[in-house]
Amino acid sequence: MSENPYRALPSVDRLLARDDVRASGDAAADLVRQALESAREAIASGRGAPSEDEIAEQVAGLARVVLEPSLRRVINASGVIVHTNLGRAPLSEAAIEAMAAVARGYSNLEFDLGAGERGSRYAHLEPVLRQLTGAEAAIAVNNNASALLLVLSVLAERRAEGDAPREVIISRGQAVEIGGGFRIPDVMAQSGVRLVEVGTTNRTYLRDYERAITAETAAIMRVHTSNFRVVGFTKEPSLQDLGRVAHEHGLALLDDLGSGCLLETTQFGLTAEPTVTESLAAGADVCMFSGDKLLGGPQAGIIAGRGDLLEAARRHPLARAVRMDKATIAGLHATLLHYLRGEALTQVPVWRMIAAPVAEIEARAKRWKRSLGSKAQVVDGRSMVGGGSLPEESLPTKLVSVAGAGAWVTGLARRLREGDPPVVGRIESGALLLDPRTVSPSEDAELVAGVKHALAG
Ligand SMILES: *Cc1c(COP(=O)(O)O)cnc(C)c1O
Repeated sequence: MSENPYRALPSVDRLLARDDVRASGDAAADLVRQALESAREAIASGRGAPSEDEIAEQVAGLARVVLEPSLRRVINASGVIVHTNLGRAPLSEAAIEAMAAVARGYSNLEFDLGAGERGSRYAHLEPVLRQLTGAEAAIAVNNNASALLLVLSVLAERRAEGDAPREVIISRGQAVEIGGGFRIPDVMAQSGVRLVEVGTTNRTYLRDYERAITAETAAIMRVHTSNFRVVGFTKEPSLQDLGRVAHEHGLALLDDLGSGCLLETTQFGLTAEPTVTESLAAGADVCMFSGDKLLGGPQAGIIAGRGDLLEAARRHPLARAVRMDKATIAGLHATLLHYLRGEALTQVPVWRMIAAPVAEIEARAKRWKRSLGSKAQVVDGRSMVGGGSLPEESLPTKLVSVAGAGAWVTGLARRLREGDPPVVGRIESGALLLDPRTVSPSEDAELVAGVKHALAG
């Protein structure tokens, strides 16, 4: 029997009559045509005709890609607190509520309720940011990369048409890549300032900065080397010294803090992360930091500092391009209030995780282990702060470890990631490690169920 394989393919109508195909709703007809098209390609390339069931299966697969949300909640059992790939900071309940409230309806985003006329979206965050940082003025934009771009673009403005580009001096050891291909020198170039690198990778002296100052210099910039540490024979001048030199020459001192820490990290046995208040007090004219790293809020970039520079930033055309949306303003405000009320350690999840006592983590690890059985063990380990803050810094923790042969462990990790909700652990020396520190206690039952399911698979 030499039947034409194309004629063996089911018709569109026949496929659309199937319950499993109709489950794709209004998209079904279009997806059926796509699936039949690829079936014809399969035949043309000599791979043979797929069965009707296989085509229906493909329709369901295509429907999943289009119809199911791609961005989903994940249980982070990796032990990395500020995990950039997993969306950085989880938000406080108050922040979530504030975001939902303005998302649901209208708001006074740019409306002055007292005067009944147009207001400014910048007005909502400035008072609380000033209060918290001691800065003269402050605004928040889309993220810290935007903050940098905006501030540098303000400084790049030439005094007259035809003038040479304005220059910003930075230590060679700080012209870094933050991650995801984001490089400080590239952002500086994008803003229109000319980057002047001084010193060497490991040692830069005050006199290196002083010698580089020209009539075109607009600012000196310090960048927090957030994701690595230079150890050994190193030298960077203090912020105070940089501020003194900058101000003697009428220049601005910019400080890219990266994380934007508002609390002392040393109380948890971590290295001192420069705080915003310290930076401004030491002489920075403008400091910039992320909202969703150690601050523990939504994605944002905060610019705090001198009033005239902040006013120029607000008026710059780029400000519109990098402005924040209403839900983020609400979420960031609610997050900042936790600091103002002195309740950040209990209310902001990032800080609750940093501050979690090991005994509490151990008790949860033991409960997980009891439910999981003999395959699981409780072991000592470290949690990472992550997110390009506190490089190499870790906290002692207790982990649940599931050991086995290499391929079995990677298979287990994959089944966990493919679960619902997905669970992300980490693999170290042939064992799957799960850290209760980064898992909300409200997710414990789901995590245990997920691991049991993956172990059975
Ligand atoms: C993370 C980081 C940035 C980028 O911040 P985003 O909020 O991710 O845009 C810039 N500079 C430093 C030093 C950082 O650590």
